[in-house]
Amino acid sequence: MNNETTATTVPVELLRKYDRPGPRYTSYPTAPVWTDEVGTEAYVDALGRASQHPDAPLALYCHIPFCRKRCYYCGCNTYITNNPARVDDYITNLCREIERTAGLLKPRRKVNQLHFGGGTPTYVDITGMAAIFDCLEEHFDFVQGGERSIELDPRVTTREQLDFLIRRGFNRVSIGVQDFDPDVQEASGRVQPEKTVTDMLDYCHRLNLKGINFDLIYGLPRQTVAGFMATLDKTIALRPDRLAVYSFAYLPTVKSHQSRIRPEELPSTEVKYQLFAAAVEKFTAAGYRQIGMDHFALPTDELSLAQADGRLHRNFMGYTVQSAPEMIGFGMSSIGYVDNSFFQNHSKLDSYKQSVSGDGLAVFRGMRLSDDDLIRQYVITSLMCNFRLKFSELKTRFDIVYHDYFGDDLAGLAGFVDDGFLVESETGLTITPLGRTFVRNIAMTYDAYLKSDSKKATFSRTI
Ligand code: SF4
Repeated sequence: MNNETTATTVPVELLRKYDRPGPRYTSYPTAPVWTDEVGTEAYVDALGRASQHPDAPLALYCHIPFCRKRCYYCGCNTYITNNPARVDDYITNLCREIERTAGLLKPRRKVNQLHFGGGTPTYVDITGMAAIFDCLEEHFDFVQGGERSIELDPRVTTREQLDFLIRRGFNRVSIGVQDFDPDVQEASGRVQPEKTVTDMLDYCHRLNLKGINFDLIYGLPRQTVAGFMATLDKTIALRPDRLAVYSFAYLPTVKSHQSRIRPEELPSTEVKYQLFAAAVEKFTAAGYRQIGMDHFALPTDELSLAQADGRLHRNFMGYTVQSAPEMIGFGMSSIGYVDNSFFQNHSKLDSYKQSVSGDGLAVFRGMRLSDDDLIRQYVITSLMCNFRLKFSELKTRFDIVYHDYFGDDLAGLAGFVDDGFLVESETGLTITPLGRTFVRNIAMTYDAYLKSDSKKATFSRTI
């Protein structure tokens, strides 16, 4: 057994020391610094420039915002409805946006990654899904061996839908589990008997799906260390290929539905640290490799293999081995990255609909990256994905000398070295197995937009 499959113990005092507001770095620069000065016009220009590289592959993201009932802890861009007309109308607008965007990208059509997220993508029935897939396939060419993935809510996804997804080329799924404890589920407003998860997992295995992911959440009401340990043990016994363990941020003043959670039932900050430390220790002891701070994958999973080879990538869809640096987002609140610029669609259903019915696009904010942004983006992505940074790569790609360029910014790294998170050599930086849990904190060293505390306060806490 090598270092990467040995259990990593994360001392609670280090979690306490480094728990502070900080970005998750699904993008750099992060969304709070994007501006509404970058809108549809800039998007049309960026798509025009992107169209000049017809052979470069794209990643596509489709957001399906609907859910039947809101989980009390939900932090997603979702829309609760039981009105099928709303869904039909959304599909019409989504297809309109796909068609208009593809027209602006022409002749660029090649796609190597497609992801459906939500909300609950399988809220849409097979007829509705077929309409969306037909539209995508009419306007884009999906390359052989590409990735097609979708988020599944085991409470609403049927076997017929899974059969259909397989027929339409889907090969990756992510299952929302959160916690197996019925008491936690009740207090969280998401009752999901264990059997619904195990039945779905069995069926996914029968369909030969790979890269099956479980989402878990720590910090939910009524979670205890003993109870969460039981959830971790059950998860390990089921052996999904991948795991994501997210922190629940209780923000009832921002997300009013969270006020249905009783604050006295939430675990204390100290217990929350213990829940996360237990997850890292149990999953690494069970042979999972830590991918980023809070993701784990079996050593045989392609995410682990890619990380070992330094070819792991990260975008808004999460970690991936597909190297499509440009991503197009479709649907309410979706985010894209084209021509070194981020673009985000309207986050409310009615404003999304209104914009798309107008000129066919729905971007309301974005950001064009400067040369400095691109350098820092590269450093942060390299640390978040591959847990290392080669100084020579910075010279080759950007013609800069690492120490000269970052200068005083680097003073903040000494503490990470002292705490055993980071090793610096003449050729680069390597994050240690212990340091993986604190990779967001390390990445913050290179973030040029975190100078003021008011900016930091817009983010969730790092633990
Ligand atoms: S299923 Fe997911 S998106 Fe829908 S309400 Fe629950 S947490 Fe939110």
